Order: sequence, then structure tokens, then C-alpha cells
Amino acid sequence: MNETFPCIQCGKVTTKDIEFCCDGYECGCKGLPIHPPTCSKECDENFFGRGENK
Ligand SMILES: [Zn+2]
Ligand SMILES: [Zn+2]
Repeated sequence: MNETFPCIQCGKVTTKDIEFCCDGYECGCKGLPIHPPTCSKECDENFFGRGENK
């Protein structure tokens, strides 16, 4: 995967590798990335760090 996505936290486009499960056919993932696109570790932590647990 080498597509670009807007960072889910700040909106900055990232070319970081995004992990997908599959194309979403008959799968609960619906073709969405397993891990939301984030441009940096900080954005990643900001996004996931909102709730202490999950
Ligand atoms: Zn970001
Ligand atoms: Zn899947």
C-alpha cells in the first residue's frame, strides 16, 4: 500500500503505510484501514490518547 490519506487527527496528507485487513467484501472491516491514518506518532497518540482505555 502506497496511497495517500489525510491524517485523521490534523488533516495533513500522509504517505505513511496504512494497514488494511482486506477489500471489505463480506468482512466487518468494510475495506477501511485497520489503523487510522496518522501523519506522525504525536497525532497517533493524540487520537488514541483521548480515552485512557480503548
Ligand atoms: Zn497529523
Ligand atoms: Zn477485512
